[in-house]
Amino acid sequence: MKKFFSILLFVIIASTISGCMESIEINEPSQEQHVEANRILNETYLSPARNIHPFRMQATVNRIAPRIRAASYRVCLDLQRPQYQCDLIQRSTIYIHQNNPQINAAADENSDIHLFGGLINISGSDDEVAAVLAHEFAHVMFVHVDKKFMNALIGQSIALALVSDSASPQSQQYWADLGAGIGAAAYSPEMELEADRAAVYILLHAGYRPEVMQDFLVRATRESAQQANLGIYTVSFLQTHPSNSNRMAHLVSAIQDARIGRPLVSTGY
Ligand SMILES: [Zn+2]
Repeated sequence: MKKFFSILLFVIIASTISGCMESIEINEPSQEQHVEANRILNETYLSPARNIHPFRMQATVNRIAPRIRAASYRVCLDLQRPQYQCDLIQRSTIYIHQNNPQINAAADENSDIHLFGGLINISGSDDEVAAVLAHEFAHVMFVHVDKKFMNALIGQSIALALVSDSASPQSQQYWADLGAGIGAAAYSPEMELEADRAAVYILLHAGYRPEVMQDFLVRATRESAQQANLGIYTVSFLQTHPSNSNRMAHLVSAIQDARIGRPLVSTGY
């Protein structure tokens, strides 16, 4: 029943998303980029999951977070976003839910970021965790959480309950529930593309190969398929961050643009 509710909520919210709140310019990928996306999904070799012990997860995040935060702030300034939005990046707290097996990450209504144990556990490298962190900082930069809730309010009163829940003092429990896939609202595909594109630039600024974002999406997709065969469902990242080969094609496009030095283009707030 809970799963049905989550799916229903996702469908309702996704169907009511309006495309009027874009933050950066996103061009359609070329045919060649779509071909490359399918090749990446099918042929990418991934290093094995690291199976990181919960006690070591904080140290993992500590190794990467300062560089990703600084690069996110830099990209935010370059985009000439409102200063308060860039300041959100500086103030954001990163919560690690070590014992939560969900493969997921999220930015909340306070612009704090939540990383779940399952995600860190299956990562093949610190770089993949850095990619997810860059993606979440991009959601903060574009105040996507506010926009997501706004879209939901436009669409359905169901989402109203979610908003009031998330504003309660039991915020930690709310996010624990989100990690478990209960009542999880998804970002719109457009928001995912914006966060991915900005994450590519953040990763480059921070000195990472932006392809690590692709690696993590491939890993999550394969893990989800394997789990489905076993009747297990912990890859909630793919529910709260809708993903498909089109998203991968956009990543191919973003990485090519970033590598030739094409700047991100702001289109609004
Ligand atoms: Zn996302």
